[in-house]
Amino acid sequence: KVRVRFAPSPTGSLHLGGLRTALFNYLFAKKNKGQFILRIEDTDQKRYVPGSVENIIKNLQYFQLEWDEGPGAHGKNNLNDYENQGPFGPYFQSQRLQLYQKYIKELIQNGDAYYCFCDSNRLEKLKNDQIEKKLPQKYDGHCRHLTDEQIRIKLLKGEKYTIRLKVPEGETTFNDIIHGKITINNSQVDDQILIKSDGFPTYHLANVIDDYQMKISHVIRGHEWITSTPKHLILYDALNIKPPKFAHIPLLVKKGGAKLSKRDQSSSVDFFRENEYLPEAVNNFVALLGWYPKFLEDSQTLNEKFSPKEEVLDMSEMAALFSLERVNPSNSQVDEKKLIFLNGQHLQIKFRDVRIEKELQNEFMDKMVQYIQIDNLKQKIQSFNTEDQLLMIETIRDRIQLYSEISQFKYLFEQPDYKNDNSQKSIQKVVKSLKNANKVIKDFKEIFASLHNQNKFEMTSLSKAMSQYLFDNNPQIKNEDVYHFLRLAMSGSHQGPSTATICHLLGYQNALERLNYFEE
Ligand code: GLU
Repeated sequence: KVRVRFAPSPTGSLHLGGLRTALFNYLFAKKNKGQFILRIEDTDQKRYVPGSVENIIKNLQYFQLEWDEGPGAHGKNNLNDYENQGPFGPYFQSQRLQLYQKYIKELIQNGDAYYCFCDSNRLEKLKNDQIEKKLPQKYDGHCRHLTDEQIRIKLLKGEKYTIRLKVPEGETTFNDIIHGKITINNSQVDDQILIKSDGFPTYHLANVIDDYQMKISHVIRGHEWITSTPKHLILYDALNIKPPKFAHIPLLVKKGGAKLSKRDQSSSVDFFRENEYLPEAVNNFVALLGWYPKFLEDSQTLNEKFSPKEEVLDMSEMAALFSLERVNPSNSQVDEKKLIFLNGQHLQIKFRDVRIEKELQNEFMDKMVQYIQIDNLKQKIQSFNTEDQLLMIETIRDRIQLYSEISQFKYLFEQPDYKNDNSQKSIQKVVKSLKNANKVIKDFKEIFASLHNQNKFEMTSLSKAMSQYLFDNNPQIKNEDVYHFLRLAMSGSHQGPSTATICHLLGYQNALERLNYFEE
């Protein structure tokens, strides 16, 4: 039975690598009809950052990675209700401290762990010596051979101690699902501290015991933990328990290969959530950081016309296709442009049926209200007839990749700011290059008025009238110049929907006003 866990330490907000670890665990659980568990590894009191757990939960919820056990499972607000988070709780390591005692006793009794009384001065000196001699940094086993009597006296004297793993001689081998067979000589493995001097277990001990007690079948975690795995396997062996299977997922790097730091915007899950990137798009993007389904690889090699659109996958497709064997062991590069592209694609999918689904219409209008920021925008939109509301929504939908880009359509409701640096220069340039600008403006005022009088101030007629005008005045007046001018005058922008569409949505009065602005 597949049981996997996401086991973050609450040391700050969730970053992209963490989200990917959670997603891979989630997809693996879904694919194998298993369970996905959230466990908080909070034994390192010094690194605890208040608010982290809430942040992690908020992000997992936003990105729709529902978990079956652990704090907040099934959307419950039970963060402090440690008893009721699932059958293997508590799911906070700090609430499990007494559970580790029995195992540590067993390890000491069997000679697999030992008391270490070395103080920080000695350990510091040892470290510096090793650095100087270019030796690997590890504990030198100084306290390994203390007799029971020596230990008893030191304990009686109240000397501070830690408990360390006694790494045996030999080598440790395991089969990583992603990296294949890995063998490490135990001489390279440190006598890891299992219980710190404050009495708390380290991550290593708690992690192993919890994975065992929570019946975890597969440990899927970031590459940075691969060097810890031999320690964990030595512990499993000493405790005589069967280890789970391991999969270490590759590091995330920036485009070009440099390390992705927590400060990079593209590593911040909060940024994507706060800017309302679609969860399905972010998941799609994050899944493809390292994982690539076979059908896409085949299509890419066989199909000359491979389009990035083929990479657009939803959660259920990904869950059906996911396999750890197809995770690439080398580093994955984060390309934010690709995320934006995918977000655009998923926006189209999400609002595909906006014409027939009222709820989608309302959702999209709410986004317009949120991003365009004009008083009473909702009423303004609702003052259009239904067909025009839909035209407006579809026109915007088809031209944005992110919700935030909706703000570019403010001109549909308000005269653009022609004087802002960007548009002013280009408008002057365009007006200049348009010979007889005043004549063109006059002509269009007439065209607009005549359409208006015939009750034909709408897209198709506008478009026809514009082409006719350009045809009649060719070649004295250049097509592109007129279109460019009209577009800038109507919208203050170089790109966007067709000029006829813009004029239609603006309506006669507004369109006329904007033309007037340029008349000398
Ligand atoms: N607590 C570790 C972390 O914060 C988890 C490592 C693991 O999954 O075993 O990344």
